[in-house]
Amino acid sequence: LYPLAGKRVWVAGHRGLVGSAVVRRLQYEDCEILTAPRQHVDLRQPAQVSQWMRDARPQAVVVAAARVGGIHANDTRPAEFLYDNLMIEANIIEAARQSRVEKLIFLGSSCIYPRLAPQPIPESALLTGPLEPTNEWYAIAKIAGIKLCQAYRKQYDCDYISAMPTNLYGPGDNFDVMQGHVIPALMSKIHRAKESAAETVDVWGSGRVLREFLYVDDAADGIVHILKHYSGAEHVNLGTGDEITIRDLAELMTQVIGFKGRLTFDTSKPDGTPRKVMDVERLRAMGWQAGTSLQTGLEQTYRWYVNHHLAEQ
Ligand code: GDP
Repeated sequence: LYPLAGKRVWVAGHRGLVGSAVVRRLQYEDCEILTAPRQHVDLRQPAQVSQWMRDARPQAVVVAAARVGGIHANDTRPAEFLYDNLMIEANIIEAARQSRVEKLIFLGSSCIYPRLAPQPIPESALLTGPLEPTNEWYAIAKIAGIKLCQAYRKQYDCDYISAMPTNLYGPGDNFDVMQGHVIPALMSKIHRAKESAAETVDVWGSGRVLREFLYVDDAADGIVHILKHYSGAEHVNLGTGDEITIRDLAELMTQVIGFKGRLTFDTSKPDGTPRKVMDVERLRAMGWQAGTSLQTGLEQTYRWYVNHHLAEQ
């Protein structure tokens, strides 16, 4: 057990979807939460990261900082997704070693697994086959992050671990229709369609592919649980173990949002990987499982979208 009470904990990426949820969750622990101001610390710059680490002196670090985006963003900005993520994780992990950080958790993604991995995907499927081409740049960077933690454990005896969350959604997400992931992008599209009394909403792809979704506050709770209870070299899957087709997801969202029109499917847009559902047995054995249903999570996200995202624009 790694108790957080009295510890100085740096949440890198505290303004993002995951980082902001981790900050909310850590407020229930008796720890000191550290955040690096974006205008002073560019996480892609090694000197800035090591300087920040020396000044802030965290004892534990949550690496929630990353260049992220949906299927279109990944597919069209490969250099940013690879370079920015490699730099962010390498800089933070090396600076953590130099500053003798006791515990670090690196966060990846379910897209690290081969496109045709066995389903549900066990942790052992890593590096057993070719990646999904639409997000291989991001995946390669995240695989490198897992390997950095393992290498630093092996060579320097650092207690650095990795968790791989499935597709996340919730308050604070990127609701841009081109750059965002499916839930926030569709939420924007369906909401606008409702407001303008449009008859149809365009869903990308066939709608037949399967995805697993985890509400971000559940993810943050899982991350804190893993941080406290796990110190192994292998990464840990963080998901629900449930999956849904994109069509059923889109229909559920029309109900939550109250859109009465029809869905159309644009098959000129990519489907991405056919299926990716996590095997979450390892995490269950650690005594954790997600508590928020997809319906409840979507309702809470929609409320946040209307009351905060739209209200603040
Ligand atoms: P992925 O899980 O890495 O493929 O990332 P996404 O969340 O971007 O996409 C998941 C699935 O939802 C893919 O099959 C997309 O084609 C589909 N999808 C349907 N409508 C949309 C949309 O408006 N935006 C995005 N990003 N994906 C959509």
